[in-house]
Parts: sequence; structure tokens; C-alpha cells
Amino acid sequence: MTRVVVLAGGVGGAKFTLGVREALARRGAPEATVVVNTGDDLWLSGVRLQPDIDSILYALAGVNDTQRGWGRQGDTERVNEELQAWGAGWPWFTLGDLDLGTHLARTGWLRDGATPTQVVERLSARWPLGVRMLPMTDAEVDTRVLLEDGRDLHFQEWWTRYRATLAPSRFDNPGVASAVPAPGVAEAIAAADVVLIAPSNPVVSIGPILRVPGVREALAAASAPVVGVSPIIGGRVVRGMADVCLAAIGVETSAAAVAAHYGARATGGLLDAWLVATEDADAAAAVEAAGIRPVVSPLWMSDVAASAAIVASALEAAGV
Ligand code: GDP
Ligand code: CA
Repeated sequence: MTRVVVLAGGVGGAKFTLGVREALARRGAPEATVVVNTGDDLWLSGVRLQPDIDSILYALAGVNDTQRGWGRQGDTERVNEELQAWGAGWPWFTLGDLDLGTHLARTGWLRDGATPTQVVERLSARWPLGVRMLPMTDAEVDTRVLLEDGRDLHFQEWWTRYRATLAPSRFDNPGVASAVPAPGVAEAIAAADVVLIAPSNPVVSIGPILRVPGVREALAAASAPVVGVSPIIGGRVVRGMADVCLAAIGVETSAAAVAAHYGARATGGLLDAWLVATEDADAAAAVEAAGIRPVVSPLWMSDVAASAAIVASALEAAGV
């Protein structure tokens, strides 16, 4: 049995998780647990949104909108139009009708006393996902973006409304210091044969997971190797605005700099090995010098087969 634990954000995390499922399907009795960032979660128009959880849920279920890159395939926006007419919610944030069904179900269960972990379990039960999803924590931990001009925005407003164009000085997760990992997270890491860090945004997707007290400790204590996959290809972020996030925390947008930011496990960091894109092969020496084993591999997740090939390289690097 190969027990794989993945740390992941939303859309990049979803593509990677599809690759994990596919790569493991070829092995006997595989078990994959994906620990998902919940730092993007928010309350809007009375419902709880969990963007990264839903991105992975919809992708694994095969009901995601692959054209648009988020939300449900074939969704409509009737309720959203009505909310806008009321001046409710955020005019720049669309809630699809089918998507709202998910949010209402989730909110109802939360109101009835279910924990976020139990809610994710119930959402997962609808489709044969083949991968177990866990929120990083049951605590409500927002991501706030502190701007250079002193303003303090919810991550979702900064990202979706302003498209990350306002200069951030800092990212904060208020409440994270008193959070604990969701039930099953530390146990899954302890029992894993390999831990994979998806090529998700290192600052606002993987960052909040690592900030939950106990997660770093669990990773450090794990007997499994920890293998990361670079979200940077050819010195650029593939999609989105992760470069702005990296710049705000003083990390260059390069495969070597992100590896150094995560750090070598031997010196108190996270990684045993780091998958570097073929385009960034010359970064391998710097990764090695940082005490992390570089593995050069194609890293474009253009389809499920490509993602599965990346996962296969990562498993091979881990020796499982
Ligand atoms: P979000 O939560 O929806 O923003 O998604 P994630 O944080 O999970 O993923 C966003 C990151 O995925 C971006 O920083 C991209 O650089 C990275 N990414 C997207 N597509 C690819 C790809 O095909 N290959 C690699 N290596 N990284 C990718
Ligand atoms: Ca996200």
C-alpha cells in the first residue's frame, strides 16, 4: 500500500490531485489524503465559502468548469443576479447557482453543529472521489492582505477584485496561532509513505497550511520523505499572481528561491526533494547547494496524464 499525503491549494492543487489519483490507480490499494488550504474561506451573503476545498472537490468529481477554471460546469447565475439587485454580497464576486447549492448545504450542516471536517466528509460522499480530503484545520483562519498604504483586505477581495494589483506588505492569518490541525491531518502525515507539496501558491495556499501549529512539527517528525513540486516554470508563475505574493515576502520568482523558502529538511525546513521544471534545469545546482535533492522533470500539468507523470516522478524521487 502506498499512502500519499498531499498539501494543496485550489486550482493548481486540484490539477495535481487529479494526477495523484491517476498515478495511484496503477498501484494496489492506494490511499491518498489531500490536506487543503482553508485560508481563502469566507462568509458571504450568509453562506460559508471554501474556494480551495470546492476546486478540488469539483475537479475530482469531474463537475468543474475547465474552461473558466473555477466553479461548476454549466452553472447559471440567476441567484447571483438577484443578490446583486439587492446590493448583497460583493458585486465583483460571482456565486453560481449550483455552487450556491454547495454553499447552502455546507452552511446548513455547520449551523446544525457539524465541524468543517465533517462537512468536507459529507460533501465528499456524493461522488466517488478516490482521494480523501481534509481541511487544514477546523478553525476559521482567514487570510488578510496588509497593503503598503495601510489598508487591510480579505485575501479574496485583494485577489479577485483588485487582481493582486495593490502592493501587499504582508499576509496574515489571524487566529492561526490558536488553531490546531483538523482531526486526521497529523495522523495521516505520521502514517504516510510520502508527503507531496503540490505546485500551489507557496505564500497563500501552502503558507497557511504550514502556519497551523503542529503541521510543521508533524512533517518534521514524519518518517516519509517530503517532496515538493515547483509552481514556477521557466522563471515565471504558470497562472495567477503568485509572483506578487512571493515578492511581498521577499522571495524571488524562481524554482530555486521557492525551494530555499521551503528549506531543506536536514536544516529544519520542509523538503527532502524538489521537482524542478525542465525549463529551470540550471536551478538544480542551487537547489542541491541548499541541501535539497533536485529532480528535473517536465512540470506542465496540461492534462491528467501529464499531472500523473509528475506525480510518478515525485514518487520515484521518494523511493516509493
Ligand atoms: P489557487 O488556490 O486556486 O490559487 O491555486 P493553487 O494555489 O493550488 O495553485 C496556483 C499555482 O499553481 C500558481 O502559483 C501556478 O504557478 C501553479 N500552477 C498552475 N498550473 C501549473 C502547471 O501546469 N504546472 C506547475 N508546475 N504549476 C502550475
Ligand atoms: Ca486558493
